[in-house]
Amino acid sequence: MSEDLFKRLVSHCKEYGFIYPSSEVYEGLNGVYDYGPMGVELKNNIKEYWWKAMVQMHDNIVGLDSAIFMHPKIWKASGHVDAFNDPLVDNKDSKKRFRADVLIETEIDKMLAKADKEVEKAAKRFGETFDEKMYRETNPRVMEYIQKAEATEKRLANALKLGDMADLKALIDELEITEPDTGSRNWTEVRQFNLMFSTQMSNTGDDGKLYLRPETAQGIFVNFLNVQKTTRQKIPFGIAQIGKAFRNEIVARQFIFRMREFEQMEMQYFVRPGTEMEWYAYWKEKRMAWHRAVTPAEKLRFKDHDNLAHYANAAVDVQFEFPFGFKELEGIHSRTDFDLSSHSELSGKKMQYFDPELNEHYTPYVVETSVGCDRMFLTVLSNALVDETVPDAKGEDSTRTVLRIAPALAPVKCAVLPLLRNNEELVGKAREVYDSIKLHFLCQYDEKDAVGRRYRRQDAIGTPYCVTIDHETLENGTVTIRERDSMLQERIAIEDIARIVLDRVDMAKIL
Ligand code: ATP
Repeated sequence: MSEDLFKRLVSHCKEYGFIYPSSEVYEGLNGVYDYGPMGVELKNNIKEYWWKAMVQMHDNIVGLDSAIFMHPKIWKASGHVDAFNDPLVDNKDSKKRFRADVLIETEIDKMLAKADKEVEKAAKRFGETFDEKMYRETNPRVMEYIQKAEATEKRLANALKLGDMADLKALIDELEITEPDTGSRNWTEVRQFNLMFSTQMSNTGDDGKLYLRPETAQGIFVNFLNVQKTTRQKIPFGIAQIGKAFRNEIVARQFIFRMREFEQMEMQYFVRPGTEMEWYAYWKEKRMAWHRAVTPAEKLRFKDHDNLAHYANAAVDVQFEFPFGFKELEGIHSRTDFDLSSHSELSGKKMQYFDPELNEHYTPYVVETSVGCDRMFLTVLSNALVDETVPDAKGEDSTRTVLRIAPALAPVKCAVLPLLRNNEELVGKAREVYDSIKLHFLCQYDEKDAVGRRYRRQDAIGTPYCVTIDHETLENGTVTIRERDSMLQERIAIEDIARIVLDRVDMAKIL
């Protein structure tokens, strides 16, 4: 999907009530979005899909809904106060802000793209005899691009690890990176920028400063013993949570990919020290399978972290091929005992587990899976939005826009349409049918415009089934049911609608 189609996706979201810019009447608020009537349904279904896969399918994973406000010391212990920074650089001419690491990564991508272009050209020149691997390993120009990219990547990772802002600035200068819109190379020094939002709570002592949580994980860590004791879980066990997180991103862009207020679906899995790598491998596989059930395999890949966070001993991203390239959709991290130990130290409360099999106390290690609900939403829509040519009622070519969303995730499951709106009998029957099935799943009743246009409207929001009430319905109690993707119609009895649709939209199909 190209950048153009991405623009189409953004406008489609607005037009059909999936996503609106926040505070639009006041010119919007950067990096913040509101989910409309279709958006909230799709988002809820994505959450349900995740919750079922994690909590319902694992008898040793339980849920939690911790508060957004937490004691400020939590963020000291977690390392967020001191280290949750991104490197910020301003362009003095355009006055725009950038993440220094993103500017450098974009430059690396360009180097690799140049190498790919050379390979592509050679492939055309040599035809069938072309050996890509050998060409990449021997062609001087390709090797130069790749080596430069790799050396830059290494230096970037090292500078980020050491917090060496001066070296990031040196890289920007050496690579002659220009401001994308203006071409200016007039950059400020690079400095650390903390991503946490803060607010004030009265009567808490000190200065009353609180942070809006930048991740949901810490609510799980500080409740580890509460949950373990009240549910009598034995290690290994997990705690899952879905909730809002807030980050003052330096550059919030690419629609809902990078927002300042977003939602995370996180699970912390507590394990015996020394077994974390086995569980890390287990969760990598499990999470990839979850994604593959709704996303084509070739659009997903793993990317190991070059630059491990302060708490991790292994980390990998599940990347999805968004319209703007492969980017992180989910992070899987082996977080060691860093968080529990830090909270234990700062709070003075032991956060250990007694393992009855080993007959000893220890601080569990943690493997976490963390997926952004909004990024998953964007993934589902990027996969689904299709413009296609189909025959219209007269058999002539017409275009339709269809969201091929997995039926289990689709916002509306079934639309009920009387063939004619000015026929009382048809309308009455359609209302009756609608009332009888709306108990089971979300339905829409629609009588406006010709039936073909109504089908198109439902296609555009991804409704998998449309039921049409026609004259035959009045005679023999049957309706046509039309399937979104194939557009095929069957005749079924009114009494069978709920059962048939329920069966086909069942989430068990993708779990
Ligand atoms: P990135 O490198 O893209 O900034 P991250 O590595 O900081 O992401 P994590 O801290 O691992 O992200 O957060 C876990 C998940 O939360 C991410 O995989 C992503 O899906 C989601 N997420 C993180 N930041 C944002 C954001 N600003 N907007 C939307 N989703 C986000």
